[in-house]
Amino acid sequence: MAPFLVLLLAGVVTASRGDREPVYRECVSSCEQRNCTGSRLQDFWAEQPLYMRLTGWVCLDDCRYQCMWHTVYLYIKEGYAVPQFHGKWPFFRFLFFQEPASALASFLNGFANLVMLRRYRASVPASCPMYHTCLTFAMVSINAWFWSTIFHTRDTAITEKMDYFCASAVILHSIYLCCMRTLGLRYPSFATAFGAVLVVLFACHVSYLTLGRFDYSYNMLANASFGMVNLVWWLAWCLKRRSHQPYLWKCVLVVVLLQSLALLELLDFPPFLWVLDAHALWHFSTIPLNVLFYSFLKDDSLYLLKVNSVLKVD
Ligand SMILES: [Zn+2]
Repeated sequence: MAPFLVLLLAGVVTASRGDREPVYRECVSSCEQRNCTGSRLQDFWAEQPLYMRLTGWVCLDDCRYQCMWHTVYLYIKEGYAVPQFHGKWPFFRFLFFQEPASALASFLNGFANLVMLRRYRASVPASCPMYHTCLTFAMVSINAWFWSTIFHTRDTAITEKMDYFCASAVILHSIYLCCMRTLGLRYPSFATAFGAVLVVLFACHVSYLTLGRFDYSYNMLANASFGMVNLVWWLAWCLKRRSHQPYLWKCVLVVVLLQSLALLELLDFPPFLWVLDAHALWHFSTIPLNVLFYSFLKDDSLYLLKVNSVLKVD
């Protein structure tokens, strides 16, 4: 296995009520001794499907998975609330997908971005002043959904960080897109300077979360703050211009819904049918918003072209 892959697949260690439970710990320890040593380990490797090996599932992971369900069964039988394990709810594993619903929703978000990017490129000429900024935004978004799909397929220390960092990059790029659209077309050097500030901010954000222990509270607060700047800036501009550009309702709806739907994350309930949790619901809910946002970007780019051709200014 390549060193990068080993790093990528190194497990995440986060403690939760379920994995602190003595029944679970004893189950994992005896399963590991029984199945993950000597000839039984050889049998495990021989019997394990190739796709599981390629995605880094090892004998200990299988022990944890089986013991998790054993513990959940005991909790439910005794009338206790379902606990989390290693920072996650119990999810049914489908093939090598650790959280199938969130992985599928992330893939569909990425696919929606790809389809809408193609449509955007087909209907907007490259001469449009916002064309390249919109294209970069699409690339940053597709990259984020790619890592989200990987992370929900296989949660490791590296895939988790990539998911978080790439998601932050999308919000920051959306702020840049807003700056470019609202001020940058008239004051290009301001947009360039502001873009540089955002790059430095992103580098500091990533460094802080990488060099020390991953600070989940800070990460959530930082993303919520970036999201709020994005929401207020887009909203203020859209409301001011709504009488000239009727299609701006699309942008208003997207930024308001994006911020509101993020509250779904606060509904932290055990997965429905052990598949669908609040996080997956949130990812599914953003799929149509991608379509609407690209539709806004297309309308706005065509509007800019029309206005520029008449007045030569925005
Ligand atoms: Zn996610």
